[in-house]
Amino acid sequence: MSLLQQLLALHKVDVQVRSLRSRLSQADRYLATQQRQLDELTAQRTDVETQHRQLKAHVGNMEVEAKGFTERIERLRKDLNQSGNTKQYNAILQEMKQIEAQKDALEEQTLAQLERVDQMAKRLADMEPLLAERTKRRDEAQAELSQRKADSADRLGELDRERAAAAAGVPAATMSVFDEAAEIHEGEAMSEVEVISARHREYACSACNTEIPFAVYAKLLGESGNVVQCVSCHRILFLSAETEATAARKR
Ligand SMILES: [Zn+2]
Repeated sequence: MSLLQQLLALHKVDVQVRSLRSRLSQADRYLATQQRQLDELTAQRTDVETQHRQLKAHVGNMEVEAKGFTERIERLRKDLNQSGNTKQYNAILQEMKQIEAQKDALEEQTLAQLERVDQMAKRLADMEPLLAERTKRRDEAQAELSQRKADSADRLGELDRERAAAAAGVPAATMSVFDEAAEIHEGEAMSEVEVISARHREYACSACNTEIPFAVYAKLLGESGNVVQCVSCHRILFLSAETEATAARKR
């Protein structure tokens, strides 16, 4: 097997390994996205829960304060009934009115805060179905990834061994040229030379359409299995069996 034939065999396996790996990393990324969205929503709920708890405690304090006002008013009412003279009576009445006004203001504030407590409780309740949905999607993504891993584990092991076998006879320098081109083009490291016109000696890289000089074509026809890259896209060039056969007939 010539070096180019070895590279083509390697390429065939390499493409399959990459496609399997990319299916896995897609599922991995999808899971990460679902997890992040779930985490964000969970953090939001924790925030609202904290605010809700604090506000409820605040309303509780306000209610205790209001109760204090009520008790003071009750005491003052008793004092009022027992007041000895008009001056005392008026002073107590004045104080009662002040405290009643404070109590009214406090009750108004409490009502407003209670409304906010209710709004937060509603927001929390509204978040529940969303959280359930996000959790479900995260779980599905998790299951999909596990399934893909299980499905591809055997095949990937097999392909890794095939790839290692195909790469065994390839010199290190050629291997790094191949890997580099594969990295740039998502696995498409090889490109067939297209014969535009044999008569006019016109050839092109079939991947990027860049013109291939006749000298390169001639080099590829040589027996040594030369590794030549396209000057534009850096893929490793090869001739199809048909092109080689046609060239051989003309010799
Ligand atoms: Zn090219």
